[in-house]
Amino acid sequence: MSVLDLARPEIRSMQPYSSARTEAGGGQIMLNANESPWAPNGDEGLGCNRYPDPQPEALLQTLAALYGVRRNQLCVGRGSDEMIDLLIRAFCRAGEDAIVIQPPTFGMYSVCARIQNAAVIEVPLAEDFSLDVDALLAAVTPAVKLVFLCTPNNPSGRSIPRAEIERVAQALAGRALLVVDEAYVEFSDQRSVVDLIDRYEHLAVLRTLSKAWALAGARIGSLLANAEVIELIRRIMPPYPLPLPCVAAALVELSPTGQASANEKIGIVRAQRLLMSKALAQVPGVREVLPSAANFLAVRFDDAASVYRQLQQAGIVVRDIRRYPNLHDALRITLGTPAENARVLSVLKSPAVDGRGVADGSA
Ligand SMILES: *Cc1c(COP(=O)(O)O)cnc(C)c1O
Repeated sequence: MSVLDLARPEIRSMQPYSSARTEAGGGQIMLNANESPWAPNGDEGLGCNRYPDPQPEALLQTLAALYGVRRNQLCVGRGSDEMIDLLIRAFCRAGEDAIVIQPPTFGMYSVCARIQNAAVIEVPLAEDFSLDVDALLAAVTPAVKLVFLCTPNNPSGRSIPRAEIERVAQALAGRALLVVDEAYVEFSDQRSVVDLIDRYEHLAVLRTLSKAWALAGARIGSLLANAEVIELIRRIMPPYPLPLPCVAAALVELSPTGQASANEKIGIVRAQRLLMSKALAQVPGVREVLPSAANFLAVRFDDAASVYRQLQQAGIVVRDIRRYPNLHDALRITLGTPAENARVLSVLKSPAVDGRGVADGSA
């Protein structure tokens, strides 16, 4: 059995859109795509009057080297969000198939599933946010086409040990595609599971330039998987997903100097994570700082709502995650610059926090 047997048959058999850019390139006078022959104002040599390469070769090669995969095991799109959407659309038949997620987790898996009218089977994480592998596997019915694992998890920050991911991968062979979302793996002590792609044809890994690579605004995410899965997803991708200025920005960030500076920033975030975890744990009103392998901390408070307002009044915006199961008293605080983090601490330590004496006309 091939992993493609899990995909929607009509996607496997469809004729993909054939764009001008893929049909012919390389001429000196390009009159096949109804583009303007003149560069726009302020173009600075980018050539934005032309449609971009659907999968820019330089970016693909750089990312393949960065992630340690072969060129045909990778495709790039508008953030990992787009990859989540495309995977669900390619594998789940509307009204029939399902995905499995483990709340509390990233919201886009279920949003994309609902858009496709795929069922969402929830297998909650344990109290300590660890994965219950047996419960997860027990939930995999024949309707399940995709199982998402988010590691390190958003919003808890906890990683899934590699051995557990492998156990899930082994059990899902021939049954479902396993999608491991590693949006924060650069901040973790644990290495990526991308090397397992060669062993499990039904394993896909999501990576992004939005977090550790400081390019959230450029919207670039990668799907790493078996070449057949990549080929399938390429069929349903919009013809020109990556804007030229975004690709240019990514290539600068992924240059040797760019990489050195990104790695330095990752080091700062990791050091700040340790420092902030310890310091926050000492702040009155803090119940618990959850261990995190990512660039944020989930923090439990005696009164999370008033802490949220207190920070907001000081001009600091954090994420209210009280709607998530098992996090009804928690806020998610992204690690900022050392100065920004120090400011968070000083606001939290100011008297308002335990005295609920915040001048809150906002309630
Ligand atoms: C931020 C985030 C993403 C989205 O990444 P984009 O590449 O910006 O779309 C994906 N997964 C998780 C778990 C995230 O937290």
